[in-house]
Amino acid sequence: MSQVLEILTLQSLDDEAAALRAALADIERRLQGDEELNAARRDLAAIRARQETARRDQRRLEGEVEALSDKIAADEKKLYDGSIHSPKELTNLQHEVDTLKASRATHEDALIEALDAAEQVNREAATAERRARVLEGRWQLQQQELRHEVLRLGDTIARVDAKRDLQKTRIPPRSLHLYEDLRRRKGGMAVSRLTGGSCGGCRVSVPDGIRRKALAISDIAQCPNCERILSVG
Ligand SMILES: [Zn+2]
Repeated sequence: MSQVLEILTLQSLDDEAAALRAALADIERRLQGDEELNAARRDLAAIRARQETARRDQRRLEGEVEALSDKIAADEKKLYDGSIHSPKELTNLQHEVDTLKASRATHEDALIEALDAAEQVNREAATAERRARVLEGRWQLQQQELRHEVLRLGDTIARVDAKRDLQKTRIPPRSLHLYEDLRRRKGGMAVSRLTGGSCGGCRVSVPDGIRRKALAISDIAQCPNCERILSVG
């Protein structure tokens, strides 16, 4: 095989290894976490915080209604047990009881609203929990698949790297150095095809002398414009 064909083979192995490494990096990035699941967990945490607030509101209002009821019961007891004789005092006490009852009614309305709100947020929490569970399950499966894929890609990369190492031994050191330098500088494309008298890398027409050199099996010809190694056929 000509030197250029050996180099071309190395270039396709290098391309393959680069593509495999990019695929591996992508999978490793995906293994960092599932965005949908993270969003679902955040939603659930926010709903749980609202649930806690709703529970606190409910407990506070229940406590207030209970305290008002106790106070009303105590006042009504005084009102009817004959311990107060002054009509003015009795009127005042009756007035206080009426005020307390009005306040209790307001608190009871607020409590009903709080209970409705708590029920609503509980339903939301149940939905969010189900969603997070489903996504969690899906993520577990995905992780398994991704880990298998990491192993599979690791094996393939090792095989391709071994082929690359072997292929490098088939190329004279000077040519290999030229190839590696060009690959670095030319966006991974060190070898370009000579088609219709032009370089496939930069599309510039190549002089006859260089074209003839490219056709010679033992020689390496470079594009005078972009420096790429020219391959024929
Ligand atoms: Zn060129």
